[in-house]
Amino acid sequence: MRLALLGPPGAGKGTQASRICEAFGLLHLSSGDLLRAEKLKNTPVGKKIRDYIDNGRFVPDELMIGIMRSKLVSLVRQGFVLDGFPRTVSQAKSLSDMLDALNRPLTQVINLAVDPAVLTRRFEGRRVCPVCLSVYHVDLMPPQQNGICDVDGAELVIRPDDMPAVVQTRIETYHQTIRPLLAYYRDAGLLWDVDASGTVDEVWLAIDARLAGQEV
Ligand code: AMP
Repeated sequence: MRLALLGPPGAGKGTQASRICEAFGLLHLSSGDLLRAEKLKNTPVGKKIRDYIDNGRFVPDELMIGIMRSKLVSLVRQGFVLDGFPRTVSQAKSLSDMLDALNRPLTQVINLAVDPAVLTRRFEGRRVCPVCLSVYHVDLMPPQQNGICDVDGAELVIRPDDMPAVVQTRIETYHQTIRPLLAYYRDAGLLWDVDASGTVDEVWLAIDARLAGQEV
């Protein structure tokens, strides 16, 4: 399987991607996590992308594609789930070229569609670990100990780009760019829409049933 997950910020792409990878033995590649790691390490790329991420705007295609290109080659043998990439038609076309050159095209693109009211609630409760980047939700996916990461005991924080004003920009940017991307993958016969307004388990059941059916 070689999958890409699409959906607005807060749709649960990262959470579902992790579950898919665990169930089907795939590798998870999150463009947001990659960018945040570069930002944290303060690399030359990290410095370039800081303002884009913190203000909820897309990192320029050229830069984003370059970062993904260097990672993709190591993923194709085992199979993968891309989470947060592609986000524009230009990225989708470059991805298709890269994967065709490796003779491993995408097998499916899963679009997680979510009711806007549900999205707002999810953002309000999202917390992340600043050390290992694990994601929690105060009500929907709480850590064992309030405000503390289960993995490394660090104090959980609100991601800077989860602040309400920035979330608004991220959701608007998403809506401006998603239509042509969905059309691109629908035309390619790869798109599968999933209603992702339910709980993590409900959405996972829908995805798992469909993917397990395809595996045989
Ligand atoms: P995410 O964690 O997927 O919500 O991504 C966080 C931020 O990283 C986004 O708001 C963008 O600033 C940036 N980003 C992530 N993926 C991409 C992408 N494919 N293209 C451009 N910017 C991206």
